[in-house]
Amino acid sequence: MVTQRALLLRRTPFGESSLVVRLFTPDLGRVDLVAKGAYRMNSRFFAVLDWFHTLEVQFTPKALGLAPLASADWALRRGALAARPAAYRAGLTVLELCDAAARHGQPEPELFAQAEATLQHLHQGGLPAALDQVLFELRFLELLGIAPALAECAACGGPAPVLRGVDRVAFSAGSGGRLCAACAETARRSGMRVGTMPEAVLEAALMIPARPRNVLALAPPEPELLGRIQDLTGRYLDYHLESRLRSQHAFLSESNRNAPERGQPPRLGPVPSHP
Ligand SMILES: [Zn+2]
Repeated sequence: MVTQRALLLRRTPFGESSLVVRLFTPDLGRVDLVAKGAYRMNSRFFAVLDWFHTLEVQFTPKALGLAPLASADWALRRGALAARPAAYRAGLTVLELCDAAARHGQPEPELFAQAEATLQHLHQGGLPAALDQVLFELRFLELLGIAPALAECAACGGPAPVLRGVDRVAFSAGSGGRLCAACAETARRSGMRVGTMPEAVLEAALMIPARPRNVLALAPPEPELLGRIQDLTGRYLDYHLESRLRSQHAFLSESNRNAPERGQPPRLGPVPSHP
């Protein structure tokens, strides 16, 4: 029998009164278990197996088939998160990304810690939910080793200055992010899709994770800029996960917020000086 902290990723009714649950654990990655009788009102699982809480679960792993969930309890409850729509959507994105990345039996302690911390931040609500979501998405891409190049050219590592006359740079999700003019040309010739991106958006995506949370709380990026970064990370994840997250459908079904016809986004403001 093992004991693990866990986040609920999915739950599906099973038989008359049971649930199949998919959990994300730090040491065993993704685990599918059957919670027998979870749909009965007097079940000890009823209410515990819900989104966003950190659970403590016990089960005996099985090589084949579904192992029964022996016990489940709350380690940390985050009820406030589900009550705020923006936090709820951001929280679902965190769980969907964990579901996309985690593998059966493969430890993911860093991703687990990051997911748990983000859910806790969303629960407490110190920053705009979209900002916590973007911070998680950028860290997620880093942990997967597919973070977009934001400052230098993704292909040659050299400088990738703005294109003449516009504050935009060549950018390709397939080539790993920002590109210099020469590498953009090479990528295009090899059939890669290369677009452009406002430099202010890449700069903000680079600088925001480096700012302490209290600074971000004092001076959060303007909603317009935040939406643009969210659009960048959302479409970048789309490309690399080869599927669109359910929680991202509505946001990304709108036209690209970083398209040239949208004009220039606001720049990220400076770090506020202490009074
Ligand atoms: Zn280059």
